[in-house]
Amino acid sequence: MRTNLLDFTLPALTDWFASLGEKPFRAKQVFRWVHQRGESDFDAMTDLAKGLREKLREVAEVRPPAILSEHRSADGTVKWLFDVGIGNGIETVFIPEDDRGTLCVSSQVGCALDCKFCSTGRSGFNRDLSVSEIVGQLWVANKRLREMAKEGQPYRLQPEAVAGEPVAAGKAEQDDGRPISNVVMMGMGEPLNNFENVVAAMQMMLDDHAYGLSRRRVTLSTSGVVHQLRKLAARCPVALAVSLHAPTDELRSKIMPINRSYGIADLLAACREYLEAAPRDFITFEYILLDGVNDAPAHAKALAKLLRDVPCKINLIPFNPFPESGFTRSRQEAVVRFRDILVEAGYVATVRKTRGDDIDAACGQLAGQVVNRMKKRTVRIHREAA
Ligand code: SAH
Ligand code: SF4
Repeated sequence: MRTNLLDFTLPALTDWFASLGEKPFRAKQVFRWVHQRGESDFDAMTDLAKGLREKLREVAEVRPPAILSEHRSADGTVKWLFDVGIGNGIETVFIPEDDRGTLCVSSQVGCALDCKFCSTGRSGFNRDLSVSEIVGQLWVANKRLREMAKEGQPYRLQPEAVAGEPVAAGKAEQDDGRPISNVVMMGMGEPLNNFENVVAAMQMMLDDHAYGLSRRRVTLSTSGVVHQLRKLAARCPVALAVSLHAPTDELRSKIMPINRSYGIADLLAACREYLEAAPRDFITFEYILLDGVNDAPAHAKALAKLLRDVPCKINLIPFNPFPESGFTRSRQEAVVRFRDILVEAGYVATVRKTRGDDIDAACGQLAGQVVNRMKKRTVRIHREAA
């Protein structure tokens, strides 16, 4: 099988080129062709010697995951389902807003953590995604959005991006009109449970020779795998979102089994440490509002007290229902009351807008297709919870 160049960070590609007897600057040229211009045809890489192009054609390829389907919502949101092997699919969502374009990227096929309100978690776990499958979501989304722009369905693209020219190194950092300015690791899976591949993929997102996103515009969302969070601070500090969803261990353990391994005190201590390395000076806490479960004024007050010592913003997420979840979305009055208590306590608390409702592209609805290889384990967790 040919080597998939989408699996390589620039240092890894440089090593691989060295094994072919090629100089480091050749690796950099190819890396830029692949990621900045979205080129997969070595023959089109015109500044490479013909001999090298031929060699690459024989031994290498640029192979992103294949698109199974693409849906475009009335509000501009685009959702892709990608084929990641027999019977398995993962989802990626692009969310255009006035001042940014955000790509929501998946990290695993399913998720083993079994949060009760999450349809990915309920569908079980199959496997980790490879580096090429993670960064490939960005590669494909960029390419498709550029193609859509050419077809007359434009997003804000800079002229040279439309013309297929590379974006100058370092320049990509700002909101420069390219379709994807932000990435959130909030699709299917727990990114910290696929640590090495997620870190390599994020390094490529940050690399000026590839996507050139700033650390503040790449956000990793975690349910709180504390020992991996400590590693992330050292290896690849990016903006951090933490799925909290309850103010007490008792309640959190009921809806998020991971809380039995890492309690709230551990998690918040790790968050405070993370801030020392983080590119932003706050953590975003995500809190799904579940009717009659965690949305009472007493929960809001407990949350306000709990987060006193952690510089943060609080993102309140309306629950997105899915069949047989057993939960319902909080009533609007409860949402407003909850937010107001936090705001009065001095927090920045916002209610997340749901986007792409007509194509099931909202958080927690990214079900994809998962052939569950963890049935036994999942059943055991259910029993523990009972
Ligand atoms: N595993 C990571 C990232 C993926 S989930 C994490 O848990 O943070 C991304 C976000 O979607 C998390 O905050 C998660 O709690 C939220 N989410 C899951 N199911 C949801 C649902 N049904 N409605 C709304 N948000 C949901
Ligand atoms: Fe996994 Fe996140 Fe869903 Fe929990 S909310 S099951 S950690 S994807």
